Amino acid sequence: MAITHNLGFPRIGARRELKFALEDHWRGGLSADELLTLAGGLRKDHWQLQAGLDWQPVGDFSLYDQILDMSVTLGNLPPRVRELGGDELTAYFRTARGRAPADSSERVVAAGELTKWFDTNYHYIVPEFSADTTFTLNPARLLAQIEEAQKQDVPVKPVIIGPLTYLWLGKAKDGSDPLALLDNLLPVYADLLQAIGQAGVEWVQVDEPILVTELPEAWQRAFHLAYKALAGVGPKKLLTTYFGRLADNLELARTLSVDGLHLDALANLDHVERLANQLPDERVLSLGVINGRNIWKSDLNALLNQLEPLQQKLGDRLWLAPTCSLLHVPVDLDSEQRIDPEIRQWLAFARQKLDELTTLATALNQGRDAVQEVLAANAEALRSRRESDRVNRAAVKARLQSVDGRWGQRQSVFSERIRLQQDRLSLPPYPTTTIGSFPQTGDIRQIRRRYRQDELDERRYQACIQHEIARCIREQEALGLDVLVHGEAERNDMVEYFGEQLDGYAFSQFGWVQSYGSRCVKPPILYGDIQRPNAMTVDWIRYAQALTDKPVKGMLTGPVTMLNWSFVRDDQPRSVTCIQLALAIRDEVLDLERAGVNIIQIDEAALREGLPLKRSQWQDYLDWAVDAFRLAANGVADTTQIHTHMCYSEFNDIIEAITRMDADVITIETSRSDMELLAAFDRFQYPNDIGPGVYDIHSPNIPSHDEIVGLMTKAAQRIPAERLWINPDCGLKTRGWQEVVPALENMVAAARTLREAA
Ligand code: GLN
Ligand code: ZN
Repeated sequence: MAITHNLGFPRIGARRELKFALEDHWRGGLSADELLTLAGGLRKDHWQLQAGLDWQPVGDFSLYDQILDMSVTLGNLPPRVRELGGDELTAYFRTARGRAPADSSERVVAAGELTKWFDTNYHYIVPEFSADTTFTLNPARLLAQIEEAQKQDVPVKPVIIGPLTYLWLGKAKDGSDPLALLDNLLPVYADLLQAIGQAGVEWVQVDEPILVTELPEAWQRAFHLAYKALAGVGPKKLLTTYFGRLADNLELARTLSVDGLHLDALANLDHVERLANQLPDERVLSLGVINGRNIWKSDLNALLNQLEPLQQKLGDRLWLAPTCSLLHVPVDLDSEQRIDPEIRQWLAFARQKLDELTTLATALNQGRDAVQEVLAANAEALRSRRESDRVNRAAVKARLQSVDGRWGQRQSVFSERIRLQQDRLSLPPYPTTTIGSFPQTGDIRQIRRRYRQDELDERRYQACIQHEIARCIREQEALGLDVLVHGEAERNDMVEYFGEQLDGYAFSQFGWVQSYGSRCVKPPILYGDIQRPNAMTVDWIRYAQALTDKPVKGMLTGPVTMLNWSFVRDDQPRSVTCIQLALAIRDEVLDLERAGVNIIQIDEAALREGLPLKRSQWQDYLDWAVDAFRLAANGVADTTQIHTHMCYSEFNDIIEAITRMDADVITIETSRSDMELLAAFDRFQYPNDIGPGVYDIHSPNIPSHDEIVGLMTKAAQRIPAERLWINPDCGLKTRGWQEVVPALENMVAAARTLREAA
C-alpha cells in the first residue's frame, strides 16, 4: 500500500477569509476570540478538503507565519516584545507587526525582520538570537491543534520546523553563532517531541529544508549530533526536505537517525532509485511527486511508470506527497469562473493536486484500471496543452531563433552616449525624478473598477485616466522636478498590467498566494509563447509628453520581474520564457523611442528574488537574466536614456551583474541603509549614473531638506556628483498627495542647495 500525505495546506482561505479577519482584528473590529474561532473554522474546512489522505498536516496552520509560531513554541519571542507583557496573541502580533491590534502609539516596538522563505515569494519572521538566548517549551498551540484535529477524526501528522533549520533561519543580533545555541535548544525539542508523542501521535513531520542548500561542515556535523540526540524521542520522525536537490547532503539525509525521509522527487529523480535501494530496512521513503510550487497538472501516467517499480520494492514504506507545502499555490481551481476552458484543463491548484495524489495512490494500490478514466482524462489534458497553438506559437519560436547577440549591445559605451544624452536632455546637475507611480487615490481605483465592470466605456475611461495624468504632470511641474512621469494611474499592478496585454498570459480571480501575514499576491499565469499584439504604454506616455516641455520617462516592467512574479510554464527553461518576455518589452521600448520618448525606465524590482537557492547556480541565472534585460533595453539609439529601478538594498554580491545590465541610470533603495550600500558601487567602480533613494516611501514621514542634503553629500563621497540623481526610494502609489507634495518639495529644494554648493 502506498501511503499518501500532505506537508501543509494554504491557510489564507479560498476567499482570503484569514486575511480579512486578521485585518479586521488589527483595526480593532473582530475580537481575539472571534478571530480564533474563525481560524478554527478554516482549519476544519482545510482538513475536510484533505480528507482521504492517509496523513494530514496539523500545526501547519498559522495566524501569521509558521516560523513565528515556532519561535512561540520555543519561548523565543524577542526580549523587547516580552518586556511589554500582555497576552500571548498580543505579543505574537507585536512581533509580527511592531504593534498590538489597535494599539496606541507608545507601545510600538520594532517588528521582527521579514525575509524571503528560501527561493519562494513567501516571507517569514526571522527568529532573533544572542549568545545568551535560552529556550523554554510552550507547546500549547500545537497540542491544542492536535487535540482539535483528533476530535475531528483527522489522521494527525503534526508539522514542526526542525532545530537546525530554525537556527539557520534566525539571526544573532550580537554577531554570535546561532549554531552555538544548539545545546540549549535540543532539550526543548526533546520535550516537545515527547509532548507530541504523549498526545497519541504516531508520526511527526520535522521540516529541515536547509538540507537542500549548501551547508558548511559544522552544520552537517550538527545534523548528525542533533538527530542522534533526538533518536527514539517522541513519535516516529519524518525528516522532510523540499525546494530542490539534496545534492551534497544526500548522504547526510540518508544516514540521519530518523524513521523516514521526504524529498522532492522531481528535483532528485536520479537519487530516488539509489535511495530506494539503500534506505535502511524499516525506514519510510516519502516522495514529493506533485509539484507544490506551480499550478500545472502533473503527468500521472509518467509518474506511475516511475512509481510502480518503486512500490514493488518498498511496499508500505513508499509514501507519496506534494514536493513541498501547498502554501505556495492557490486553494481551488473550482472557484475560477473566468479562466478560458482550454487553459483551465491544464491547471491544478491545491485541492486538485491532492486529487492527483489520491489517483496515484489508488493506481498503485489497486491497479491503474481502478482509475482508468481519470488517467485517460489527465493524458488528454496534457496532450491538449502540448499541442495547443496558443502554447506553441511558430512565429515566436522563429523570432527566438533569429535573436542576434548584437541586439543586447548598445551602440556606444556609456561615457560616449551619456554626452549625447546630456546634449539632448540638458538636465541640471543632480537631476530630480521619481520612480514612476504617484498616489493611487480612491478616484483612480474607482475609475479602474468601473471600467473593469463595464460601467465606463473605453472613451470615457481614457478621458478619466488622461485627467489623472494631466494632474500628475501639473503637480510635477509645480514641484520643479526635472524628469517627469505619467504616474501609472492606469496600472493595477506592475506585472498584471503588462501580462494582460500580452498573448500567453492568463489571470485567475481567486488565485491568491500568501506573501506574508495577511498580504497575498495573485501571480498571473504565463502559459504560452509570449507575443505583444499591440503597443502597451505608448498612447499614455505620448499624451503625458504632449503636456510638458520637460522630458517624461516611459515606464515598463522588465522581463526578469515579469518572470519572477508569475506562475511560469514548466515545459521550457525559465531562461527561454524570459527571452520571450524580453523581446515583447523590446518592441515596446522601440515603439516608445519612435514616439519621441527620450527616457525609458525598465523596472527590475524582482531581479534579486530570482536568485537560485544554491550559490553555485547564481552565475548561470544572472547571466541569462542580465542578457534578457539587455535584449529588452539595448536596441535604442545612444541618445535614448535607459533607466532601471530596483527596490532592495543588497547589491554586494550581484553588483557585477548590475553593471553588466549597463542601464544609463539605476535608481535604488538606499535611504534606510544611510547610503552605506553605495560602498558596493564604489568598490566595484560602477561606471554609470545612480539615483540613490533619498527617502523611504514605506513610511509616512516627510524627509527634511537637511536630511536629503546630508544623504546626498554622503553619496557624493562615494560616487562623483556628476553621476548622481535625486529621487525617492520607490514608487509613490501607496502614499497620499499630502505626503508626496511636501516630501518632493524638500527633495527639489535639496537639489537646488546641492547645485549651488557645487
Ligand atoms: N515604477 C513602479 C512604481 O513606481 C516601480 C515599483 C517597484 O519598484 N516595485 O510603482
Ligand atoms: Zn521599487
